[in-house]
Amino acid sequence: MWDIEEFERAAHTTVAALAAYVDESQHGLPPVTAQRPPAELARRLGIRRWIREGGMTDEDYRRFLDVYLAEGTRLHHPSYLGHQSAAPDFPAALADFVHGATNNPMAIYEMGASAATVELEILRWMLDKVGFGSAGGGVLTHGGSLANLTAMLAARARAVPEAWTDGVPGDLALLAPPSAHYSVTRAAAILGLGERAIIPLPVDRLGRIEVARLPEALEHARRAGRRPFVLVASACSTGTGLYDDLRPIGEFCAEHGIWFHVDGAHGASALLSDAHRHLLDGIETADSVIWDAHKMMRVSSLATAVLVRREADLDRAFQQEASYLFYGERSFDLIGRTVECTKAQLGLKIFLNLAWRGERGMGEYVAARYATAHRLWELARERPGFTCPYEPQSNIVCFRYGSREVDQAALRKRLMDDGTFYLTSTEVDGVRHLRATVIAPATDDKAIEALLDAIAEVGTRIAA
Ligand SMILES: *Cc1c(COP(=O)(O)O)cnc(C)c1O
Repeated sequence: MWDIEEFERAAHTTVAALAAYVDESQHGLPPVTAQRPPAELARRLGIRRWIREGGMTDEDYRRFLDVYLAEGTRLHHPSYLGHQSAAPDFPAALADFVHGATNNPMAIYEMGASAATVELEILRWMLDKVGFGSAGGGVLTHGGSLANLTAMLAARARAVPEAWTDGVPGDLALLAPPSAHYSVTRAAAILGLGERAIIPLPVDRLGRIEVARLPEALEHARRAGRRPFVLVASACSTGTGLYDDLRPIGEFCAEHGIWFHVDGAHGASALLSDAHRHLLDGIETADSVIWDAHKMMRVSSLATAVLVRREADLDRAFQQEASYLFYGERSFDLIGRTVECTKAQLGLKIFLNLAWRGERGMGEYVAARYATAHRLWELARERPGFTCPYEPQSNIVCFRYGSREVDQAALRKRLMDDGTFYLTSTEVDGVRHLRATVIAPATDDKAIEALLDAIAEVGTRIAA
């Protein structure tokens, strides 16, 4: 049994440590990241001894937590411009805590009526935002990669219902731009279609689907004896943060009987911003959409929605017998729609953020991050030595410093080693670029000016 006093003490310790951690992080005081090698860090944290001997007290825990927090990456830091992971807002953090203590794995309703109801209501809200309304259906999964797999399964079930029992015909093909997230390729392989079932769609030099060339691509595929059953578009793409032109792609898919899947893992949250919703124009023509809350809704990893325009499509994705779980007429159990069996109370963290900030507050957060990223592009473009291949549409910006000879990966590594900035890099049009994702609420114009100063300084040293 829990010693309740011990729990309360340790919980207070945790709250105090996290409050200090987030406070100094968002003021940009300590380095944004520490990259000590694992053997050294394991010693410093005393991990093996704790595993062997146990007996951690509140005081030990306090000391452990101080080192543990200092030796990671600070997502609330103004210099955090790395991978697309949210700097969580505190209501979402509280939800994780509640989940950790109560553990109502509510894939079946009877295991957690409140948790399941919250998920159902969050899904209803998201279905409305996407424009699917009450005819649509959805489920929350642990992340966008599983969500893409789930949507592909639903698409496959529509095209070839017997695939679940009989296996997959060899002619099935999936249309996707080469810029699609790698989880789409993985989904094709996991589904038994094989990576070779992916037909790369024609794209412009920034990786966006070229709508005018879709008929030719389809014709080509069909002449080669392939049966394209699903088309994937990005809203927005992971690498560049650019949105595909959803409406004409949706019209094309409807005309040719192809399932239209919109990967909105990163960018669907722009639906919440009045100034940016137009980027997703036509999303309601999709058959399926995925939407990560742990990217732009300030929720900790992971919480993703799979949304379909026709509810039954999702129930058909997983056709199998499990009579001890699935009985009765109308079920509120979501277990039939997921790869997972047991699942966390994912809806609660989305809900508590919304409950605190409202959908308007959430929209303002998205708008502000998109605006700051745009500002980064404006400032970089004006500076000597910076090359910006495109105007950003989201909070992801790609740029280079210096001539072709300046190794951008080395430049990034230097900034990371110093702990001054956390950025990523990607290829745009075959050339390596630096990539910044403006995601922490603390990242302001001052941080962005400092980033450009640091890049120019390090870049000049590397070039010399
Ligand atoms: C991040 C991302 C994914 C994968 O989502 P995870 O939650 O990291 O599994 C899929 N598609 C796009 C476009 C993404 O940006």
